[in-house]
Amino acid sequence: MKCPKCSLEDLNEIKINGVMIDRCSHCGGLWFDKDELSISRDARDKNLSWLDFDLWGDHNKLALSGKSIDCPRDGKHLFKIKYGNTDVMVDICLDCHGVWLDKSELDKIIVQLKDKINSETIPDHINALGQEIAQLLAHPNQADVELRHIAIVMKLLEYRIISQFPKIAELIAVLPD
Ligand SMILES: [Zn+2]
Ligand SMILES: [Zn+2]
Repeated sequence: MKCPKCSLEDLNEIKINGVMIDRCSHCGGLWFDKDELSISRDARDKNLSWLDFDLWGDHNKLALSGKSIDCPRDGKHLFKIKYGNTDVMVDICLDCHGVWLDKSELDKIIVQLKDKINSETIPDHINALGQEIAQLLAHPNQADVELRHIAIVMKLLEYRIISQFPKIAELIAVLPD
C-alpha cells in the first residue's frame, strides 16, 4: 500500500501488541485497518472512557468535514472527523472503515492524554491497563516510546471509531458533496 500523503512511499508493516499496522517511514503517518482496530475491542472499557476525551459521548458534537486524501486500501476518499474536544483530525474511510492518522495528530493526542493524567487523579475503577498506560506516559525516555504511543492511540481509536461508527456513517451520509 502507498502512503496517502506521500503517495510514492510504501507503507511498512509494524507489529504492536501482536497487531500489524501500517506506517509511513517518510512522514510517520499511520494506517489502521478496521480489523486491526477491532481485534481487542471492548467499547465499554471504563479505562478507555476515562483516558479518552468524552465529547464523542454526545454525537451532536461530532465534527465532520468533507473529503480529504484517498484511502490507501481502496482509493476512496477519506472523511475528516474531529477527535473529541481536541483539534485532532482523524481520517476515516466509509467503505473499508480504515483510519488514517498523521504523525502530528498522534502527537497531539499523546499531549492531551499526558495533560489529563497529570491534572487529574486516576479513578479507582481504572484497572491494570489504565495504570499501565499512565505509567507509559509518565516515563517518556524509555526505548520505543513511539511504538508505545501508537499502541495507546490504537486502543483509543478502536474505542472511539468502532463504537461510534454507525453514527459517523449516518452523519457522513448527509454531508454535502
Ligand atoms: Zn507518508
Ligand atoms: Zn478504504
